Amino acid sequence: MLIEKLCKEQNLTDDEFRTLLETDRYDDALREAADAVRREHYGTDVYLRGLIEFTNFCKNDCLYCGIRRSNKCASRYRLTEEDIMACCKEGYGLGYRTFVLQGGEDPYFTDERVCQIVREIRTRYPDCAITLSIGEKSRESYQAFFDAGANRYLLRHETADPTLYSRLHPAELSLENRIRCLYDLKDIGYQVGAGMMVGCPGQTTDHLIRDLRFLQELKPDMIGIGPFIPHKDTPFKDEQRGDLYLVLRLLGILRLMFPWVLLPATTALGTIHPQGRELGLKMGANVIMPNLSPVSVRKKYMLYDDKICTGEESAQCVDCLERRVTSVGYQIVSGRGDVKR
Ligand code: SAH
Repeated sequence: MLIEKLCKEQNLTDDEFRTLLETDRYDDALREAADAVRREHYGTDVYLRGLIEFTNFCKNDCLYCGIRRSNKCASRYRLTEEDIMACCKEGYGLGYRTFVLQGGEDPYFTDERVCQIVREIRTRYPDCAITLSIGEKSRESYQAFFDAGANRYLLRHETADPTLYSRLHPAELSLENRIRCLYDLKDIGYQVGAGMMVGCPGQTTDHLIRDLRFLQELKPDMIGIGPFIPHKDTPFKDEQRGDLYLVLRLLGILRLMFPWVLLPATTALGTIHPQGRELGLKMGANVIMPNLSPVSVRKKYMLYDDKICTGEESAQCVDCLERRVTSVGYQIVSGRGDVKR
């Protein structure tokens, strides 16, 4: 009855969420319910987001992340505006109508430079959504990017627990500022994506319940979750990766809590299991974010070990994904794939 209640009320008590998260007893029922809700709101459609990883320079030092400032082994790169435009051109030809510019927090990309790139994409591809994922900025910067033509912003909250947050991040970063950013972005008019890393060091079920409560307050348009995966050149190199089934359970729960939400089957999920993304789609996920970055830099944007899809050309990725998505009964659709609230 837990699943029926969650379907009906889009909510449960903390104790009920704990039960759902900590046993595998409900997995089949959860998958059936999540898939039914997803079909009701989005049919069998799967939306693509072309991910352009345009810089791996970062001024931050997040303990889990492979491109953290202190990782001296990382080979750093930045794409030029021409490189980025070439990625968009390739992506547009392959049917992508959303471009996601993601990167480390790289001071080289000043507001002026980011706005210039956004304006250029906006002019050339007026029918596409432009998503930024470049970390914490001032409200003024977010406004400037929005005015230049950006529509969406991905900024995972990572964890909604301030103590755990401070164990994962250097002292100069705070959960408070991350949350300030998310509300500023919403207020400006962006479609916003938040989300947490599942199974990061020190995380308990109670932390995850806190994440669910935070998401209930924020009501983001998109929720990106994936397993934590250690990176060999970070302080967390010897930590356990996040559990596949826990991520899947959370996807199902999120689909039932937020029937209209955009829910990606993430690359990290595909990294911990060969069919991870397919399993995610069956649990209510409806978005995939293939890599559009030039193959020459893909291995350098290593947030965690063994990241998949770092060798293929973009066109090959589309073929492979097409097969994977149809194998579980869904279909890739071209188009911006806006949220259906
Ligand atoms: N600088 C941007 C983009 C960060 S990379 C920002 O601050 O938002 C995108 C996401 O990758 C992060 O939000 C984090 O949730 C995830 N990530 C980073 N390192 C990871 C790891 N070791 N395992 C799993 N996910 C990771």
